[in-house]
Amino acid sequence: MREACGVFGVYAPGASVARLTFDGLFALQHRGQESAGMAVSDGETMTVVKEMGLVTAVFDERTIASLVGDLALGHVRYSTTGRSTWDNAQPVYRSVGAAGFSLGHNGNLTNTAQLAASLGMLPGVVSSDSDLIAELLARRFLVAPEPDETLLVDALMDVLPLLEGAFSLALIDEAQLVAVRDPHGFRPLCLGQLTYFVAGQERRGWVVASESPALEVIGAELVREIDPGEMIVADHNGVKSSHPFGAERVEPRLCVFEFVYFARPDSRLEGREVYATRRHMGELLARRSPVDADLVIGVPDSGVAAAEGYALASGVPYGQGLIKNRYIGRTFIAPTPEARLSGVRRKLNPLRASIAGKRLVVIDDSIVRGTTTREIVRMLRESGAREVHLRISSPPFAWPCFYGIDTPVREELIASRMPVDGVCAHVGADSLGYLSLEDLMTAVGADSEGTGFCRACLTGIYPAPVPIDL
Ligand code: SF4
Repeated sequence: MREACGVFGVYAPGASVARLTFDGLFALQHRGQESAGMAVSDGETMTVVKEMGLVTAVFDERTIASLVGDLALGHVRYSTTGRSTWDNAQPVYRSVGAAGFSLGHNGNLTNTAQLAASLGMLPGVVSSDSDLIAELLARRFLVAPEPDETLLVDALMDVLPLLEGAFSLALIDEAQLVAVRDPHGFRPLCLGQLTYFVAGQERRGWVVASESPALEVIGAELVREIDPGEMIVADHNGVKSSHPFGAERVEPRLCVFEFVYFARPDSRLEGREVYATRRHMGELLARRSPVDADLVIGVPDSGVAAAEGYALASGVPYGQGLIKNRYIGRTFIAPTPEARLSGVRRKLNPLRASIAGKRLVVIDDSIVRGTTTREIVRMLRESGAREVHLRISSPPFAWPCFYGIDTPVREELIASRMPVDGVCAHVGADSLGYLSLEDLMTAVGADSEGTGFCRACLTGIYPAPVPIDL
């Protein structure tokens, strides 16, 4: 599985915000490593820089110094729809006459094709779902009588109700920062406040980000998570909240895999720290799926907190057994199975002295195709592990995601093709245990029905229409 995207926006009158945006994007790099971009407005001119590559490859000191303004939008992307090309890097910029805006999107629309067709768009007019949203907004700009400061919000009020699926959006025009979460709130988005000084005067600005650590790294305070179905507008009047979709459409469904895998451990989601939640998953896994062993190790990064929890609850010592090369970027997210295998070995290296002769419990967050897991098991055995018992801190991933995560088609998901003992044999482990759906709900603080969460890839029950028949 691959993360989808990260968005970051800041409105800080009188300040220079390009550096803050760079730092915010750097904190969100785990959500997208294909391309990075930034749009900065000084109130009259909007400058957009975007390029393929990591945040540090796209922006250097000279580029940051050239981006002047107190209103900015940043984006890191991993493509889930649309090709991985410069054209699809974000922010998406559109100008209509004297008016312009930039847009950053995290998530996937599920009605892109129908919307494009219903509007009579020829194939190729838009290159991704994010581009479609920008095109729809731009068309509203075209028919507006007079461009004024309400133009962007008015256009959003028209366009947002047409969209289905997952969209956490941040937008800027020359004067305001806007953030919107779809009525299910599949992807996270939070609001922060920034205190800063201009000529000795204390000022307050507003920040929006996919995850709370992006606020903290720039010294902003988390105010709250933006609600599903809510739109926030920050401008010279302060901050306004509205609900463009109407109360009847709001049905919160935060992606449960944000807790399992996608979000940073230091993020707060639904008021919970992700790290503590992952530890709790490990504790519950140990109670339901114990094993006689000498050492618990986690597959870095997201398996580590659950491994600590497993060790705590089981009494089996915790230690490091796999070291991750932290400097591997997009290059090694490779499309073919062979390339994927060599990518695993470049990314993870076993600590031979720690694991030789030991009966290991190995905690990972998920098994998708099984290819990576099988390679990890093989590496551990080659390094002298006596037994390898796999424990997974989520239930079997058996259905594809249509809400902003890049997952294989159903036939490629190993849990949809074989039962647990078949998966165990395929990956070459001595035993395999998954966290139950019930325990996952306990860990994230949900009831047994999973109220408030999307868990479609675990159950096959999709909370919003999906674009294909399964
Ligand atoms: S289908 Fe799975 S990965 Fe996709 S949003 Fe729902 S819980 Fe998250």
